[in-house]
Amino acid sequence: MLNVPSQSFPGPSSQQRVASGGRSKVPLKQGRSLMDWIRLTKSGKDLTGLKGRLIEVTEEELKKHNKKDDCWICIRGFVYNVSPYMEYHPGGEDELMRAAGSDGTDLFDQVHRWVNYESMLKECLVGRMAMKPAFPKDYHEEKKVLNGMLPQSQVTDTLAKEGPSSPSYDWFQTDSLVTIVIYTKQKDINLDSVIVDHRDDSFRAETVIKDYSYLVHVALSHEIQEDFSGLFYRKCQLVSKEDVTHDTKLFCLMLPPSTHLEVPVGQHVYLRLPITGTEIVKPYTPVCDSLFSEFKEPVLPNNVYIYFLIKIYPAGFFTPELDQLQIGDYVSVSNPEGNFIISQLQELEDLFLLAAGTGFTPMVKVLNYALTNIPSLRKVKLMFFNKTEDDIIWRSQLEKLAFKDKRFEVEFVLSAPTSEWSGKQGYISPALLSEFLKRRSDTSKVLICLCGPTPFTEQGMKMLHDLNFSKDEIHSFTA
Ligand code: FAD
Ligand code: NAP
Repeated sequence: MLNVPSQSFPGPSSQQRVASGGRSKVPLKQGRSLMDWIRLTKSGKDLTGLKGRLIEVTEEELKKHNKKDDCWICIRGFVYNVSPYMEYHPGGEDELMRAAGSDGTDLFDQVHRWVNYESMLKECLVGRMAMKPAFPKDYHEEKKVLNGMLPQSQVTDTLAKEGPSSPSYDWFQTDSLVTIVIYTKQKDINLDSVIVDHRDDSFRAETVIKDYSYLVHVALSHEIQEDFSGLFYRKCQLVSKEDVTHDTKLFCLMLPPSTHLEVPVGQHVYLRLPITGTEIVKPYTPVCDSLFSEFKEPVLPNNVYIYFLIKIYPAGFFTPELDQLQIGDYVSVSNPEGNFIISQLQELEDLFLLAAGTGFTPMVKVLNYALTNIPSLRKVKLMFFNKTEDDIIWRSQLEKLAFKDKRFEVEFVLSAPTSEWSGKQGYISPALLSEFLKRRSDTSKVLICLCGPTPFTEQGMKMLHDLNFSKDEIHSFTA
């Protein structure tokens, strides 16, 4: 919902769109970029209309604020006045208005669970939802459960009197959700400082503040479903950065020693960096260190390093900051997400990969996995769309792989080639696809993966449906 230009990426009037033959060009309002928003939040302007006061908001009150110029939204028990943010929201005003005057948590989780709204909207915080005055019918039962959940006596406050000021906690509920809030006076606290464990009937939340920890440890009287809202981030150190093309680099991050994290094939993570005081997150898809790494004995211990191929956009918001990082600096990495299921590759005979630009990144692990682990595989064909030859990521590795492994073929298609280019040119089209996607037989098991700029992926999907490929035979990588 908040700082996510990537879904309509590149920006509607970005240089890339303008340069691409004038397709889908929409004028953007001047002065409404993410940077402009951050500037406004730091200007000291009263964005809530409450002069910095925080209030308890009843449901009745929340419902009243349902207009564009007076729009309050509740996310996870906290209420924000999002009217000042409307024009800065990359998803548009209509998307925000869907949650106007109501609890937008579910909507938010469906669309942008990973976005750091707490940081982005901190100046818009109106307050928190008041406890419901009317409890459900089984109030007594429910109350007992909650009392059982958080008995004060079981909260261990290990902050000594001389330590930082002691945190406090409370909880509130909606019909389906119990939210535990731990209040610390510590600035810059984030998910890295909170360790949450849930095992059988025990729930434990430890908040680490400097050298102290504050522990909420409770026995549960009912089963709960885990939903530790937001994603967990750990700080990873940049250990190397290598040029791959003129604008794309291979970043290698080292996971902390206590972390075991292997990002599943086809999934992405979120990278988080503080940019001018606001935590900004963007999704990236880990790759292997090379196309051949899965075929050789690992030189480096597994699960310690995580690699990304990242294109740096000089006028972009996040990637120039990433590019500024020095070896030894830290960037936060979230848990993996994504809806690719590895079983889609089982018993596969033909695998077709359609990638545009950095849309190649999810294909790297899919390709490696398929060639190494799927005995039924007969053919993997990659059609890789780029603007010029200079933009092709890992071209020589791809050509080498095609030479070494006869099951693999690669075809490059360029939208703005030089006159020397003798290969295919143009954009994704039904003619290109029908020639490329030759299945072995009518019954052979096929999967087509697509990834690139959103309009590329959407057009590709439509063309594939028109070519009579079924939904099960197509996987598109999106956010
Ligand atoms: P942005 O600020 O988003 O800008 C990008 C470009 O658009 C710039 O050229 C900028 O000038 C232009 N632009 C932006 N806003 C405007 C505007 N208002 N007006 C005019 N022009 C504008 N990328 C990778 O490189 N590698 C990956 O592995 C990768 N994995 C991804 C996985 C997923 C699931 C998704 C959804 C995206 C992935 N991306 C990946 C893309 C990545 O998330 C970012 O979108 C990308 O890095 C650009 O971020 P940025 O903030 O630097 O650029
Ligand atoms: P790019 O260089 O702008 O584009 C790559 C190629 O695709 C170029 O030939 C380009 O042609 C063409 N193209 C662009 N838009 C098109 C459209 N609407 N129809 C047909 N062809 C089109 O790509 P990039 O800058 O690397 O961007 C890659 C995109 O992939 C980003 O949007 C990124 O968010 C996305 N991505 C998504 C995931 C995921 O998992 N969801 C992972 C990685 C990347 P022209 O330049 O000539 O227009």
